Amino acid sequence: MKKHNFSAGPCVLPQPVMQKASEAILNFNGLDLSLLEISHRSTDFTAVMERAQKLALEHLGLQDKGYKALFLQGGASMEFLRVAYNLLEQKAAYLNTGTWSVKAIKEAKLFGEILEVASSKDQNFNYVPKNYTIPSDADYFHCTSNNTIFGTQLKSFPETNVPIACDMSSDIFSRQLDFSKFSIIYAGAQKNMGPAGTTLIVVKEDVLGKVSRAIPSLMDYRVHIAKNSMFNTPAVFAVYVSMLTLEWLKEKGGISAIEKVNDKKSKLLYSEIDRNPLFTGFVANKEDRSTMNATFNLTDENFKEKFDTLWQDAGINGLNGHRSVGGYRASMYNALELESVQVLVDVMKELERKA
Ligand SMILES: *Cc1c(COP(=O)(O)O)cnc(C)c1O
Repeated sequence: MKKHNFSAGPCVLPQPVMQKASEAILNFNGLDLSLLEISHRSTDFTAVMERAQKLALEHLGLQDKGYKALFLQGGASMEFLRVAYNLLEQKAAYLNTGTWSVKAIKEAKLFGEILEVASSKDQNFNYVPKNYTIPSDADYFHCTSNNTIFGTQLKSFPETNVPIACDMSSDIFSRQLDFSKFSIIYAGAQKNMGPAGTTLIVVKEDVLGKVSRAIPSLMDYRVHIAKNSMFNTPAVFAVYVSMLTLEWLKEKGGISAIEKVNDKKSKLLYSEIDRNPLFTGFVANKEDRSTMNATFNLTDENFKEKFDTLWQDAGINGLNGHRSVGGYRASMYNALELESVQVLVDVMKELERKA
């Protein structure tokens, strides 16, 4: 039975990518060797790393603009501290829009003063704060572009003279932005790019080398740039599958083309949430709704059992909301097809008919 995978992460990946990835495990590049058993320093693998880095910068429109793309380990969670290690001398400004921002703030506090410029904690993070000011003497400003757990998304970014570092784990490559506004962009692969195990970090080199502390090699972006993400053994499989996904995205027409599909998918689902009296959205302001993760609840919990049976019978997977929000969360990453959202919407309509 065809599954419709709405899982929040790890999550759906394009089928052609899965096919190529499984072939590479058995016989990579016709070498009669597996991708998993060759040296990461072989020409076959270094070509993969370079291609993945080039594609990432190309998709973001950041080639030849002073940026480097790295594929490192430790997940996005590692970057919570690595960003601060490399950039925080005195004081940094953070926007608190949910669980992942809270974790980023906690790590950064180990390195200096953290100013929370605004927070939506007062309403369990169901909106995106606006109209805050970023002190011009901050070392950097940090934000989370898409709040995977709560289903909010930043639709605009502040104008500021301080470097912006952004956790884009759950919406990178999903929508067009002026990426040159950011000095550091990072994203764990396992949402829009590939399997768990690697993190893409895109860093503008001119923000580095300004802190006075000594930085351990593994924590130092400059070391990884100098070694082209090969300071130690990279997560070869995760990098390879990320490269395949970035190739797939290119064939699809890049970010601007996939954004149109993503808009269609999210409009389809949100209009049903708004229309169907049995459902209600979690996010307070419609303009803050994420195109990647839609959070919603039943208006009457008595229908829970019936709804859960209906969507499971339709082949839908991963619809339960995060424990801190409850209800449901439909994650509609790049690889999820419009058809899958239609299946979910049909199930919601069916519940209404049967209720
Ligand atoms: C999933 C997620 C993370 C955590 O990523 P790990 O790779 O598990 O460390 C961080 N930030 C956001 C926005 C996420 O969605």
